[in-house]
Amino acid sequence: MKFFLHLVLLVFFSQSAVFAQSPPDSGNVKSKSIFKITYDVGFSVADSSVLVKIFISNSALIRSLDFNLRDHKLEKIKASGEWVEKDQRLVWTPPETGTAWLKYKIKLVNQRENGAYDAKVGEDWALFRGDDIVPPVKSRFTAGATSKSKIRFNLPKGWHSVNTGWPRLTSEKSKRNAEFKIVKRETRFDRPVGWIIAGDIGTRRELIGDTWVSVSAPVGEDFRRMDMLTLLHFVWPEMQKSFRKLPSKVLLVGAGNPFWRGGLSAPNSLFLHTERPMVSENGTSTLLHEFVHVITGIRGQKSHDWIAEGLAEFYSVELLYRAGGISESRRKRVLAELDEWSENVTRLDVDYSTGPVTAKAALFFFALDDELKSVSGGKMNIDDLTRQLRNQDKVSAEDIRKTFVLLTGKKSAVYRKWRKWFAGASSSKE
Ligand SMILES: [Zn+2]
Repeated sequence: MKFFLHLVLLVFFSQSAVFAQSPPDSGNVKSKSIFKITYDVGFSVADSSVLVKIFISNSALIRSLDFNLRDHKLEKIKASGEWVEKDQRLVWTPPETGTAWLKYKIKLVNQRENGAYDAKVGEDWALFRGDDIVPPVKSRFTAGATSKSKIRFNLPKGWHSVNTGWPRLTSEKSKRNAEFKIVKRETRFDRPVGWIIAGDIGTRRELIGDTWVSVSAPVGEDFRRMDMLTLLHFVWPEMQKSFRKLPSKVLLVGAGNPFWRGGLSAPNSLFLHTERPMVSENGTSTLLHEFVHVITGIRGQKSHDWIAEGLAEFYSVELLYRAGGISESRRKRVLAELDEWSENVTRLDVDYSTGPVTAKAALFFFALDDELKSVSGGKMNIDDLTRQLRNQDKVSAEDIRKTFVLLTGKKSAVYRKWRKWFAGASSSKE
């Protein structure tokens, strides 16, 4: 499970509309063309809310910010400049000089369809995603403007720590007023997308390869931090071989009921329910599955969710096998079970790939891996294809077909054989 796909719309709305594409024409203009975004986050424990203030320096560079409020109910909105809330949108035109600000309150008790939470602000701690508290935004700048962003926290009394998947700007000692740098993504008005945990929390932090992995959970929750770090240490060399480029920091957070009983990944962080085993009885691993989402960032185009899910599931088994965590005969049995589980699946091109569809998709990648090894005389495997897909924004079955040809100079027989499972992917939905 992942929520990159739930972000498809959000990404669309966060793309910047600029008036002109031309770069600044002198060095002087360059320094004047940077505006700084600061997200200031406070908490109102009494009513499970988060208080957000967005400050923007050099606001003359911004024409307008158009927030999509379809999934975000903002209360007590105040702002400098002009703003209007209408038709589930908040359109803000910051003042022409100085530092602009917008503040609001947002209640956070997100319940998914099955009643489980995926965000909470409680008495002693809070767990949510930055994208829960800042709506998707379509932004308009003057030509050449660019931004630097950070998020800072003001924790209530008694809360002593906060953690995110972004690099920390303040020292580990300044716990209640910590600041984090929001690393630039594809847009110029960066939103703080990713998991945030604050309050009475326990964290273990370790450098694994070149990646700082933080494992945080509320104190008292039975989150097996050492089990996770140990498994990650064990599998990491294989992660490195497969994906080569790994992030500098990943935050792993967890909580028990009533939180969502599974895993949910964001670009720099992931959530895991405390009751999820490191490796399930069927031989797959939710922890590794979610890590693969975080590390590869691969997302499917519409009706191609099966590619991201199938690859994550494939690697959750394969990385364990390559690291020596499961035997060859166990691997065969895992594949046989995936086959049995997915025997009634008739197509892969559904909107959201889960359970049996993901199992079927994983089998496609096992078959493709075998074929790549065989046609290349053992010089290549699925990792070569995965690394190519990582370079693309959102992938489709056609990208897999083309990449196979690019890598091997041959057409894939496996692709041809499996095509019927996703043949309608470009036009149909289910
Ligand atoms: Zn997934």
